[in-house]
Amino acid sequence: MATTPTEPATHAEPAQPRSWFLTGDELDATRAKIATLNTRARRKGFTGTVELAATAATRSYTPAPGAPAVTVHGFDATVTGQPPCYWGWIFVAAIDLLPAAQPDIPPGVVVRYPPGADQTISNDEVRPGECDHCHTVRPRTTTYLVRNDDTGELLQVGRTCLKDFLGWSTAPVLIDTDTIAADIEASLGTRTTAPWDLESVLTYAWAVVETHGWTPTSAASSGRTPTRDLVADALHGGNVGQRVLAGIRDYLDAAPAMPARIITDLAPTLTADTGYEANLAALLRAGQVDPRHLGLAVSAVNAWHRLHEHQASQRAREQRRDQLRHVGQVGQPITLTGTITTRLPVDGYRYDSPPQLLLILDCGDAVAKMITCAAWAYDTKPGEQLTVTGTVKAHTEYCGVPQTVLVRPRRVDTTAADSPPLWEIVAPLNPQSRFQEAPLAALAPLGRGLGI
Ligand SMILES: [Zn+2]
Repeated sequence: MATTPTEPATHAEPAQPRSWFLTGDELDATRAKIATLNTRARRKGFTGTVELAATAATRSYTPAPGAPAVTVHGFDATVTGQPPCYWGWIFVAAIDLLPAAQPDIPPGVVVRYPPGADQTISNDEVRPGECDHCHTVRPRTTTYLVRNDDTGELLQVGRTCLKDFLGWSTAPVLIDTDTIAADIEASLGTRTTAPWDLESVLTYAWAVVETHGWTPTSAASSGRTPTRDLVADALHGGNVGQRVLAGIRDYLDAAPAMPARIITDLAPTLTADTGYEANLAALLRAGQVDPRHLGLAVSAVNAWHRLHEHQASQRAREQRRDQLRHVGQVGQPITLTGTITTRLPVDGYRYDSPPQLLLILDCGDAVAKMITCAAWAYDTKPGEQLTVTGTVKAHTEYCGVPQTVLVRPRRVDTTAADSPPLWEIVAPLNPQSRFQEAPLAALAPLGRGLGI
């Protein structure tokens, strides 16, 4: 019904549906409550139902003045339905008589509507206390307004006459949206925290990690505050979050641009179908973060930093590739020292050939490759330092990396653990063994001050 501002509020807004912002759990609880109400109404012989219409919705707030908005996800839930009906009479409203304030002023009324009511009535048009069934006027507390479904006839029936009028003794269960609303609100109990929007979480998580570094949830036992808890405080804002928000203030201007970058960079790299990667990928897709998953969500910032470090070290390795070269002369012996980066069993040439090992040695500015079935090779581990003497068989390339292929490699023991040297051996360097020094130091970690 169209309303204008000049009409009295009690008249203008009866059909205004009651609406709540509910979390998923609360929505489930409310639907269960409404199912109970409908069952009760049916048992009492009334048609008419209450329904809960719900649409996904968000709300936003600012945890501190000037801070980026925090968005939470939930549902706008509205009570709708069909008004109760009995024997062709639809319950349009219940009319409650208010106590008279002064003897010479007629008492006012409160008109209550059932959910789904499509007809509203001016409070001035109702005749409080009058019953169209017994045609008497007396100070009745509640009168029902009913409409004939066929003829449209509107009647006022006193509560006590309802039994005679309908041949039914029970007052309708679903007569009044306000009572239903009160029922629903009572059943909600302790409100649960609505899930945060992923972008809100990553905005604050990035600012927290930039300021304080990354602290995993597992570090809580050592007395450090996990990143997750700092982010939760910041998101809640108010008195609780004030200290955290003040601490990360310098990063909050740049922070809102970060979630899109983090998600874009990280999502394609999360390819595992189980475990951490699969969980984080699902969370990034969902776009909202239940409080139970806040620790997982904020770890995306750390995973993103690690991804960048990995990419930076890969770039550095590629840059180093240009400086790599072949060493020695084909057919000539050479001694090389380096770190074992690859140690792979390979099949022999024939079914009865002994098993062999492929070893790749990173010697700083050269890479050596050898396939051997020598016993010493089986005692090696990837990452271990190794000095070998062998004959250069060929200068090849693998994925753009120049490789020096050795045959008949022999291990050269640089540290004789079983017989510690009594004196230092000073020997002139073989002109071909320019790689006796330790290989290049591993790339400095781009730690960014993160405790990872
Ligand atoms: Zn009556």
